[in-house]
Amino acid sequence: MTATNHGLMGAVIAITLQKYPPLAITVSLLSHFLLDAFPHFGDGKMSLHSRRFYGILFTDMTLAVVSTLAVAWFWFEIALLVVGCAFLAASPDLMWLYYEYLKPKLKLGRLARFHSRIQWSQSPPGLMVEFIWFIVLFPTLIYIGAQF
Ligand SMILES: [Zn+2]
Repeated sequence: MTATNHGLMGAVIAITLQKYPPLAITVSLLSHFLLDAFPHFGDGKMSLHSRRFYGILFTDMTLAVVSTLAVAWFWFEIALLVVGCAFLAASPDLMWLYYEYLKPKLKLGRLARFHSRIQWSQSPPGLMVEFIWFIVLFPTLIYIGAQF
């Protein structure tokens, strides 16, 4: 799933569990693997070294940062928790940078194999799921946050 949607999920968890920060942090990290089990965007034919991939990555990172900061702005009193949980919710995908760019010849470790296996449905049409996820989470958080 995109970093944007992982991050927004982390923000939802931070807001929902704001009275229990250690729990919010833990659940945010674990939420990554739950979300990855849903059908989502991906293209097995696209090289992770292609211009197209870098374009998608840049767009996703920009949207992730902007949407997280927007939510944090509307939930200002717990902004640090929102940003931290958003980062943790998206962070397991950093392992792919390690395997793809730093140690490309290294065999996947146990966690990476698990992480790869749970993503049973990654396809271009999965972008629709990502879009719906974003449309439901982002405006809802902003709307609720603006009420406080
Ligand atoms: Zn992942």
